[in-house]
Amino acid sequence: MFNYFSKINCPTCHYQPKRLNRWECEECGHRWNIFDTYGKCPHCGHTHAETECPKCHDLNSHTDWYIDWRDVELEFAD
Ligand SMILES: [Zn+2]
Ligand SMILES: [Zn+2]
Repeated sequence: MFNYFSKINCPTCHYQPKRLNRWECEECGHRWNIFDTYGKCPHCGHTHAETECPKCHDLNSHTDWYIDWRDVELEFAD
């Protein structure tokens, strides 16, 4: 199975997100793995431009987490 998480890490501390990590939507409180949907909440559709690191708690632009940026595009509802 292809592990795309190996291509994602925290720009600050280089922590690599795990499958079990969860982020909370600031709009609706839904909890999910934000990298599964490139920052877009599967519950309310809100796209989070910034992502907090579970380890160092720095807030970085969601796109900065991707080592290989080519395949990633954020989808904003507006
Ligand atoms: Zn970090
Ligand atoms: Zn939401």
